[in-house]
Amino acid sequence: MRENKTLSRVLQEGKKRLRNANKENYAFEAELLLMDICGINRVALLTQGDAEITSEQEEKYIAYLAQREANRPLQYILGQCEFMGLSFNVGEGVLIPRSDTEVLVEAVLEVSEREKIKTVIDVGTGSGCIPICLTHFGQMIAVGLDISPVALDFARKNGEFNHVAVKWIESDLFSAVPEALRGAVDAIVSNPPYISKEVIEGLMPEVRDYEPRNALDGGDDGLDFYRRILEESCNWLREGGWLFFEIGYDQGQALLEMMTEAGFCQCALQQDLAGLDRVVFGKLERNQ
Ligand code: GLN
Repeated sequence: MRENKTLSRVLQEGKKRLRNANKENYAFEAELLLMDICGINRVALLTQGDAEITSEQEEKYIAYLAQREANRPLQYILGQCEFMGLSFNVGEGVLIPRSDTEVLVEAVLEVSEREKIKTVIDVGTGSGCIPICLTHFGQMIAVGLDISPVALDFARKNGEFNHVAVKWIESDLFSAVPEALRGAVDAIVSNPPYISKEVIEGLMPEVRDYEPRNALDGGDDGLDFYRRILEESCNWLREGGWLFFEIGYDQGQALLEMMTEAGFCQCALQQDLAGLDRVVFGKLERNQ
């Protein structure tokens, strides 16, 4: 019978394979995949290198490495990712929450400290990361909309996993929002697809080939969904309600103009950790 390999030997092999596959964070990724398979934390991985792993574990590791070499995102392989310190299930059919989107959630939480924001609708909720965090950290009453039933299954599971009650509705933008919410919502938030068609083909293969196209593609100029959401959001927001968008780094000026034109005031941009425009928000004034 073949001898089982040690953790440190298998880890070395994993790192080498991912480095050869040009994965920038090859060491970190090789560690995470092995930790997941063996059910151990990083300290155990690095201090118990002489422990043997079973042949089943090794086979599973090799299969994971092959998926990563084929550019499948690490988060899809692990089936999990972190957002604002909470854990989310992810997989094919749902956008992996990005740390940039934390800026969007934080902007909503910040405004809610000085303005009444209790009821909130998230348009294009994907994994549900936005309304789940707004409920968890801001005690809001949230609705998550998505056109994709697959995404909503993830969102529902994530809500249960994080013990928050969010109302999930399968809806093409606002098409299935209950009439009772018309003109009554305190805030609308959205991280819509905002990548222009021509940029999509140049994205990393992890994103381009694995993440849902309909979560990325914002049309010819990337602004299609902002136009549609802006037009419809005025029907659902109350007077003085707020609209928050995540945006691409080069879309800030266009969005400021579009929001002002749609009747929003106090419009402002907020930057991400890299100093790039990432969020725009404003308040609906009907009587201007
Ligand atoms: N709201 C989800 C997120 O921010 C999904 C967004 C999307 O699919 N465009 O991760």
